[in-house]
Amino acid sequence: MTSIRLSGVTKRYGETEVITGLDLDIHSGEFLVFLGPSGCGKSTLLRMIAGLETVSDGQISIGDRQVNEQPPGKRGVAMVFQHYALYPHMTVYDNMAFGLRNTGVRAADVERRIGEAARMLELGPLLQRRPAQLSGGQRQRVAIGRAVVKEPHAFLFDEPLSNLDAALRTRTRLELARIHQRLHSTMVFVTHDQVEAMTLATRIVVMNRGRIEQIGEPLEIYKRPATRFVAGFIGSPAMNFIDVERAGENGGRLTVSLPFEGVRMPSAIAASGLPAGKLTLGVRAEHVLLDPQGPLVGRAEVIERLGDRSLAHVSMPNGQLLVAQLPPARDLEFKIGDTIRMNLDASHLHLFDETGKAWHGV
Ligand code: ADP
Repeated sequence: MTSIRLSGVTKRYGETEVITGLDLDIHSGEFLVFLGPSGCGKSTLLRMIAGLETVSDGQISIGDRQVNEQPPGKRGVAMVFQHYALYPHMTVYDNMAFGLRNTGVRAADVERRIGEAARMLELGPLLQRRPAQLSGGQRQRVAIGRAVVKEPHAFLFDEPLSNLDAALRTRTRLELARIHQRLHSTMVFVTHDQVEAMTLATRIVVMNRGRIEQIGEPLEIYKRPATRFVAGFIGSPAMNFIDVERAGENGGRLTVSLPFEGVRMPSAIAASGLPAGKLTLGVRAEHVLLDPQGPLVGRAEVIERLGDRSLAHVSMPNGQLLVAQLPPARDLEFKIGDTIRMNLDASHLHLFDETGKAWHGV
């Protein structure tokens, strides 16, 4: 088990800075996920930890060793890629043994390690096959096995599930969670898929344009996003955003006015301390409540019935669409064109100032 520390890590390609002064402590034994949109710098960061990219500025330490100048093979980490890159002419066994034999691991140890990994990953019956005789999921399991047998200080995963079909992705995701529970190794995982991040991570690092937006446990990030970017990126459907104005306060809590025929609404957010300037209200679909006396009135444009829940996309008087989650017992009551009356759950509102910083209720 090993911790990894990044201090002021910066990466430039020529004039372009793609990672900017990034500080991060990855705890020993945690499953840390880098999450963010394509191009935000996740893979570059992982590849710098692995030693596959140079660091332009700053320091990377693995355990108590500074590794900036160390080649990948000396860092004690094992990387699993999106493309499994198995040797096609070798059996599964030899694919896993190859790196070990090359680094002088004794034959008896090679056999023991492969035996253990094969049991854990249920690869036993496949050990004498070649990659062409395996399904995509089996190949990815071999790629994970090849990392496991190295008994690394840390595992680095670069979108390892994105080439798998949906059902297999879910199964392999569970398998990874089980491997982590069994090995208690430090794991760093890159993905743009928030479901993968939410289900696998002990902590998520949400990245945007080469910087960290927020670090936190999955539910903390969902419930108390630090910025508007995080609020919009995490959660499906995406959070509703509404431009609002200050309309006074009640018991120290801000009242806002919404652009829907002057509707005013209390919030649980402290009025003092909010900076001047424009404010945006954020509310998730599950906190837009059906309410026959509610002040918000709109027309159902689309109703998405997803099985476990239904979502109404409601057109408001100013043309904006609000997404409301319908309670399970009532989702068949509504059809397209119906008038829907709603309220917002005052205790679950978020406010974002002009800089994008979030202000939550207390
Ligand atoms: P992500 O993994 O989040 O999709 P990457 O780390 O692959 O993002 O890329 C981050 C940024 O760095 C992108 O804007 C990408 O175009 C740029 N980039 C990556 N590799 C190179 C390279 N070899 N030369 C120049 N720019 C690069």
